[in-house]
Amino acid sequence: MAENIEIPVSVGPMNEGERVRGPDMFAELAGPKSYGFELVKVVDNASDEIHVIGKELDEMEEGSRTPFAVIVNVGGESLEEDLEGVLERRIHEIFNYIEGVMHLNQRDSVWIRINKDSAEKGLKLKHIGRVIQDIYKAEFPFIKHVEVKLITEPDVVKDELEKAREIYAKRDEKTKNLHEEDVDVFYGCIMCQSFAPTHVCVITPDKPALCGGINYFDARAASKIDPEGPIFEIPKGNCLDENKGIYDAVNDVIYERSQGAIEAMTLHSVMDRPSTSCGCFEAITFYIPEVDGFGIVDRSYKGETPIGVPFSALAGQCSGGRQVEGFCGMSISYMKSPKFFQADGGWKRVVWLPKELKEKVKDGILEEMIDKIATEEDVSNITELQEFLKNKNHPVVENWGSMEEEVGTDEEEVEREESYGDEETEMSVSTMNLPTGFGGLPHNVKIILKNATIKAEKIIIMRETEKPKKK
Ligand code: SF4
Repeated sequence: MAENIEIPVSVGPMNEGERVRGPDMFAELAGPKSYGFELVKVVDNASDEIHVIGKELDEMEEGSRTPFAVIVNVGGESLEEDLEGVLERRIHEIFNYIEGVMHLNQRDSVWIRINKDSAEKGLKLKHIGRVIQDIYKAEFPFIKHVEVKLITEPDVVKDELEKAREIYAKRDEKTKNLHEEDVDVFYGCIMCQSFAPTHVCVITPDKPALCGGINYFDARAASKIDPEGPIFEIPKGNCLDENKGIYDAVNDVIYERSQGAIEAMTLHSVMDRPSTSCGCFEAITFYIPEVDGFGIVDRSYKGETPIGVPFSALAGQCSGGRQVEGFCGMSISYMKSPKFFQADGGWKRVVWLPKELKEKVKDGILEEMIDKIATEEDVSNITELQEFLKNKNHPVVENWGSMEEEVGTDEEEVEREESYGDEETEMSVSTMNLPTGFGGLPHNVKIILKNATIKAEKIIIMRETEKPKKK
C-alpha cells in the first residue's frame, strides 16, 4: 500500500507553460551547466515505492544547482518495452503540471527548475514522485505498479547516466532496417501543442520525432494502447514526391491537426515546406546563403555558430509550431537516417556542425564528406568557412558560380531601373534585395524606393542591437 503523501502545491494543466527565471529559482536540477537524465523502464518486479537518493529539496541551498536523475520502473501485464519512450516523454508534461516546476527537454538533456514559492510551500522531490505515480496510473490503467527513483547524489547520477545512454542508443537502433516504403502508416504526435499550437510531429521509420524521444515503434505501441491519445496513426496515402517525402493523406491530417495552419509538409527537405518545429528539438538545421549549404547545431553546444548566433537564437526563429523554410528542428538520430534531408542534398550540403555532435553522428555521415565539414575548431565566421570549404573542395563550392551569376542579374536589374530616372542620382523606382537576420539568413528584405533622391557618401546597414560607433 502506497504511503499517503499530501502534495503542498497545485497540480494540473493550468501550471503548464510556467517559466522559472533565475531570480525566482530555488534550485536547478540537471540542465546545461550540470548533468542528468530521465528514464522509464518496463520491469517485472516494479514496487510502488518512491526513493530519494541524495539530498531532498529542503536540504539544498537556495540558488543551488545539482545533478539529477529520475528513473521510473513500471509494471503491468500488457506493458511492452516499446512503450518506454512514450511514457518517458510524459514526464515532461507531468513535471510541468506541478506548480512552480519548470521542465525542459528530454532524455540526457533534461533541465528542471523549482521556484522559491513552491519550495517555501514545502514541495519536495518525493511529492514529484507521487505525482508521477498518480498520473501514470490514472492515465494508463494498464500500468499496475510505478516505482520512482529521484537521484541527486552526483556519483550515482553519473553511473546511471551511462546505463541510460546505452538504453537510448538501443531504442534508436531498432528502426534501422525499416523504411518509409516498407510501411503503410506513419504516426503523428501533438503532445507539444500545449505550447506550440500548430505543431504536428510526423514519425516514420526514417524520421524519429524531433524531440528524439519517440521512434516509429514507440509511436506504434502508444497509438495501439491509447488510440484517442496524442499519438495517432496517419495513413500514408499516395506518395506525391518520394525524394521530398510528400504524401497526400499525411498532408490532410497535418492540415486538420494544425487547425488549418499548415497545408503541406515535406519530410525530408529544409528548403521546401519543412516540418514544423515545436521547441523540444534536439538540433536545428539552418541554411547559410553565403555558402549555399547547411549548418547544424544541437542544444548542448553553447558557442556561436559561424553566422554569429548560438542555438537558442536559431531555435527562436522557428519554434512554436512554425514552418519556416531554411530552418528545421530535428532529432539527432535523424542525422543517421539514409533519408536525412535527401531532397536538399543530405550530407553533401552540410558545411558546419559542432565537433562533439560530429563525433556522435560520425557513422551516419557519408565517408567522403567527413573531412569536408567544418567544426568550431576549423572556422569561426563565414569568411573562414568559405575559405575552408574551398580548400576542402566541398561539393557546395560547385554551386557558387551560379550564385554569383544570380547576384549579377539583380544588379543589372537595378541599373536598368535606375536609368528610367534622372540622369544624376534620382531613381524613379529601384529595388535592392538585402540579406538580413543573423549573418544573412534566408529572409530577404526588399527595399523599394519611389521617386527618391539619395545622396550619401556611405550607407551602413547593421543589426538592431548594434549601436553606431561615434566618430
Ligand atoms: S516533439 Fe513531437 S513527438 Fe516529441 S512530444 Fe513533442 S509532438 Fe510529440
